[in-house]
Amino acid sequence: MISIDEARRLVMDRVEPCPPVNVSLAEAVGHTLAEDVKADIDSPPHAKALVDGYAIRVADLRQASVELQVIEEVMAGQVPTQSVVAGQATRIMTGAPIPSGADAVVMREQTELRRGQAVEWVTISTNEIVRGSHILELGASFRMDEIVLSAGTLVRGIEVGLLGEVGCAKVKIVRPPRVAILATGNELVHHGQRPDSGQIRNSNGPMLVAMTSRAGAEPVDLGIACDDHDELAARIRQGLDNDILLLSGGVSAGQLDLVPEVLSSVGVQTVFHRVRLKPGKPLWFGAIGSSSKSTLVFGLPGNPVSGLVCFELFVRPAIEAMRGRPNISVMESYVELVGNFSHRGGRPTYHPGQMRVAVEKTTVLPLQWQGSADLRALTDANCLIQFPAGERFYGPGELVKVRYLDAG
Ligand code: AMP
Ligand code: MG
Repeated sequence: MISIDEARRLVMDRVEPCPPVNVSLAEAVGHTLAEDVKADIDSPPHAKALVDGYAIRVADLRQASVELQVIEEVMAGQVPTQSVVAGQATRIMTGAPIPSGADAVVMREQTELRRGQAVEWVTISTNEIVRGSHILELGASFRMDEIVLSAGTLVRGIEVGLLGEVGCAKVKIVRPPRVAILATGNELVHHGQRPDSGQIRNSNGPMLVAMTSRAGAEPVDLGIACDDHDELAARIRQGLDNDILLLSGGVSAGQLDLVPEVLSSVGVQTVFHRVRLKPGKPLWFGAIGSSSKSTLVFGLPGNPVSGLVCFELFVRPAIEAMRGRPNISVMESYVELVGNFSHRGGRPTYHPGQMRVAVEKTTVLPLQWQGSADLRALTDANCLIQFPAGERFYGPGELVKVRYLDAG
């Protein structure tokens, strides 16, 4: 049996990023940029006022209080027509271009206006103004032809704004991988049905569809297949049209655990079967196709929590890398254990935990859990606690490693 690290390496060695596709700006959110993005303009395109007030010359502010003549008014969207010379000021609104001659803006709140017959005068009585006050210089944010976003960046709302600022109507993103999901088992019925005796509902299918979509990939739900060689072969062939095929069930040592042999019969090459891990030991992994167009196949164990743990440890990193984000940091940290925990067993264990994040201290409580078939206990979990192989007692306050689950 191979280790978790070795298994992950074997998976990641076979992962290629998906090809780029063009989408509209509105569709880019949640995807990864497939190319560097350059600015087509300077930002700001002119030196601009950051407040509503008066554009002045700092050299004029020699006394505690000075009165300057207001020569024009410039709104955002307008351009100044006059230069500011000694003794003058231009009334200016936030975002408007700074007139030539002016080298600072005084906030309106720090001024007083006096209207003459045909002229206006503004009194400035502040000593806080220096050259450049309340002005954003031309190109201070970025210059034309500068790379403002690099390939590999995740597009969030912030990046959508910046892409809009540089005029990207179309954005080249990494196509999200398509992940087919097939639940296997004679005992399974659709979740909309009431199970007869001996049957259970297919909960892994909807869970894996949801987790795939939350991981930023595109799920393709293939429903349920019976434990029958021909039916499995036909449904698996259908699934191999995608970037990843996730199978649930049929990879353990039971009489009807046919998945590995059917996968081999349709040409999928076995990379590994079984990992030193609890829960999740029966995991099967293989691949088919060339490096340019291949499908990765994960045979996940049927027990729901085993499938979930294998998804987190192996499928999620593969999806991330296919999305063009190979070095995404796993959300793991050491936190203090609350209560006692006794671990025994020859495999590293992932136990559901409830992490409580507080300013002073983050702690984790190991949850009561009936093992890999007990999904319900995990509704209270927000992390998996990692206990190394071996028999060992863990006491309160001890540091344990946790891996965060999707926080929603
Ligand atoms: P298997 O890996 O096929 O031996 O299944 C292991 C256990 O997981 C059995 O108790 C199955 O009934 C259960 N199981 C298998 N597939 C599913 C599924 N899609 N949803 C819920 N439980 C399942
Ligand atoms: Mg089965």
